[in-house]
Amino acid sequence: MSEAGDAVGGPGEPAVGIAGYVSPYPYLDRLQEKMEERLARKVPIAGRFCGFCYGRLRAADEVCAFCGRPVAESGTVNEIPQDVLKAFHVRAKTEAAWVHSGAFLGLILAAGLFLWQVIWAPGILGHPALAFMVLILGGYLLAQLFGPILGGQLGYRKGSRKRDALWAAHLAKRG
Ligand SMILES: [Zn+2]
Repeated sequence: MSEAGDAVGGPGEPAVGIAGYVSPYPYLDRLQEKMEERLARKVPIAGRFCGFCYGRLRAADEVCAFCGRPVAESGTVNEIPQDVLKAFHVRAKTEAAWVHSGAFLGLILAAGLFLWQVIWAPGILGHPALAFMVLILGGYLLAQLFGPILGGQLGYRKGSRKRDALWAAHLAKRG
């Protein structure tokens, strides 16, 4: 039987402050992946969910594994509200947009470098074969750097902020 304390900042917690943002609602980070599965309809829509955070409960759960609150206290619901799903969707969409834009920027930079080499670079540096290698390899590396690495961090931060604001609005509305 798990204790409520384990679920709230236990040893399984990811490194604090990934990408310089600490969510005031740590259970949302734990729920993000589950909610994305739900958004993609990989799991049943109906079920038994925590009445506080909407984490899916197993039949025997007396304490929510996501927010750590006793089920007897928060109650249960059969479906996740649409505005809550939207909050998680916004986070996923924002993160993906930053990763894609970053990768695209990386490719543009590599293409620019390629053109510079072919048109202006002196001697061996301007050899088309070398320039082509730079285009392929540089394009890959720059797309990785600006996409998943830098764009991913920025997107994580910006997306989490948006999600958390929508969640705060949901909590306020729920009262
Ligand atoms: Zn919960």
